[in-house]
Amino acid sequence: MSPLGWVPCPHGVYLIHPKGFKEKRRRWRRKEVAMESCLATRQRILIVDDERTNRMVLADLLSEDYDILLARDGEQALARLGDPQTPDLILLDVMMPGLDGYEVLRRLKEDGRTREIPVVFVTGLNDEEHEEKGLTLGATDYVSKPFHPAVVRARVRNHLDLAHRRKVLEESAYLDPLTRLANRRCFDHTVEGEWRRSLRRAQPVSLIFADVDFFKEYNDHYGHGAGDEALRIVGQALAGCVHRPHDLIARYGGEEFIVLLPETPSDAGRAIAETMRARVAAQGVTHRRSGVAPVLTISLGGYTVVPSLEGSPRQAVAVADAGLYQAKHQGRNRVVWTEG
Ligand SMILES: [Mg+2]
Repeated sequence: MSPLGWVPCPHGVYLIHPKGFKEKRRRWRRKEVAMESCLATRQRILIVDDERTNRMVLADLLSEDYDILLARDGEQALARLGDPQTPDLILLDVMMPGLDGYEVLRRLKEDGRTREIPVVFVTGLNDEEHEEKGLTLGATDYVSKPFHPAVVRARVRNHLDLAHRRKVLEESAYLDPLTRLANRRCFDHTVEGEWRRSLRRAQPVSLIFADVDFFKEYNDHYGHGAGDEALRIVGQALAGCVHRPHDLIARYGGEEFIVLLPETPSDAGRAIAETMRARVAAQGVTHRRSGVAPVLTISLGGYTVVPSLEGSPRQAVAVADAGLYQAKHQGRNRVVWTEG
């Protein structure tokens, strides 16, 4: 057990002992086992405060109902967000050495992965100026010290409920029900953010447009049910070719898929496109009406570009689309790549 009285649990989650720890260690062990069994459904709260007492008081208040992650400063908080299990809510102290609460909040709002996490500022008493500034910067709410347990619990619960509802809604709005991949709307939303991020970092972005060859003939011959199943197979095959958390595959519409590969130079992007082409063909879905192969195949157009202020995601998508058109024109079941 660490000197703070919290224990590492599976999945990198740290659970706080409710009250003290030495004398109640055995009871805690039992509780720990019970908590582990419901880890999957419990929501997570990240508490960021440089004062240990504050961390402990807040954790004590909330650990009955939520999994607790702790950070003692801004750097540690941002590092914890790289964990596979991101928090559902962040309680963020304003006054901290190093990165203060404002700076941490600014960085959270800048990153697409953390932008939507509700942040509740923790401020000193009568600190209206801080509260106002925090709310202006995008904090969801604030709680003031000294803590009123009922108020802290109620605010945390409200914001977690809201966030959960929003997440469910967003997932349904961003999901293609047939392939269970992201939909076009999700792609359009994501590509904007990645474009700006890559622009700031001067990093290349690769885009791949993929389209099933002779899909109309497939549908006509095998029926729409089989066509849907074929799209699911293609979608899964494509999804199996990318592994990084920022990569995105979306069904763009009909039998078209689009792939967003941030921080990917052209040779790596082209290699992924080629793997996708081979992987789909290797599924061996019989296609007797295909003009290019005895099985279902795809054509792909790819484009690598370092984003500039003059360019836009829309233009980049158009270039990848033009590559796809060429791939079709040159005989299908191939990749045509364009470099920006
Ligand atoms: Mg502080």
